[in-house]
Amino acid sequence: MQTYKLSLFVFIIIVLTFSFNTALYSQSSSNNFVIMIDPGHGGKDSGTPGTGRYRTTEKDIALDVSLALGKMIQEKIPTVKVVYTRSNDIYPTLNGRTILANKKDVDLFISIHCNAQPGRTGSAYGSETYVLGTTKNKQNLEVAKRENSVIALEDNTEVYKDFNPDSPESVLGLMIAQEAYLDHSIKLARYIEDEFQVTAKRKSRGVKQNIFYVLAYTYMPSVLVELGFLTHKKEEDFLNSKRGKELMTKSLFNAVEKYLQYLNVNANDIVFVEENSTKPPFKNIEFKVQIAASSKELETKPYNFNGLDDISLIKEGSLYRYFYGCSPNYEIIKQFEEKARKNGYESCFVVAFKDGKKIPLIDALKTISN
Ligand SMILES: [Zn+2]
Repeated sequence: MQTYKLSLFVFIIIVLTFSFNTALYSQSSSNNFVIMIDPGHGGKDSGTPGTGRYRTTEKDIALDVSLALGKMIQEKIPTVKVVYTRSNDIYPTLNGRTILANKKDVDLFISIHCNAQPGRTGSAYGSETYVLGTTKNKQNLEVAKRENSVIALEDNTEVYKDFNPDSPESVLGLMIAQEAYLDHSIKLARYIEDEFQVTAKRKSRGVKQNIFYVLAYTYMPSVLVELGFLTHKKEEDFLNSKRGKELMTKSLFNAVEKYLQYLNVNANDIVFVEENSTKPPFKNIEFKVQIAASSKELETKPYNFNGLDDISLIKEGSLYRYFYGCSPNYEIIKQFEEKARKNGYESCFVVAFKDGKKIPLIDALKTISN
């Protein structure tokens, strides 16, 4: 444990010194890696009431687990700073929560909730962890609708006028803004769901994607955890029990610890890359299409990439990321993206760089449109 603490400390110093990946690592202005824990709902917004057999509702369980998780992180990994969107029974607006996260230079955002089926009871049970994304799955859509629906209860709904999960353009804009963080969000989400299964011995319903306001507007890796269904009697009993909360907290902690270890491994490689790379070949904004990421280094030859030429690679942490094309022109790179899709890279996406450093695509688009 001592070795790990030391290496975590070294990791943070390394990251702050080299700031290789601006999008993911150098958000903190302080010396600490900052985790913001967001207990869902609160105050006037109780969240799901569950079966109605308990006086507690979603907001209470979310708060208990959030505070216990924060406490455990502070005790076991004191180099990490924990902040909360709320630490008692108040209701911060969704917009307020995201503003706080972005203002506090948070490196990781974890929103904690409990699930519900329509009606008071239901047979569905198990945990789900969401990252931002689109879905056609009806159940996923219902979860996001319910979690976003508190917006309607807020006094100032004006701030949400651009948030329209039903509009493809709006969704595309949101996805672009989050693209730089998605890999990391998925990584943590996976760890969380694995931990719920292994450590808490719960049923995991998996890592899922949907448009949640708090995920769309926090500019850092972010996940939304549904601990379980309060409309399922046994699960409601479990989540209201001391033991249940402890197991879910421990699982979340283990997942966070794994995530930090994962970044730690990457950080060592970042130093290697930084010291050995030549000057960045880019000036100002350049776009590329990311087609693949692999732990293996491949020759950037067309035969390795479904016939595509103009392949470049960047070593980021323990991963080699492969890119197709390079242009300061967004329209042109969109054509490259289309070609990459046709050649079999269906989940490819455009990435932006400024002076050779990866930046959120939305920032690049803002810059060129100014
Ligand atoms: Zn909720």
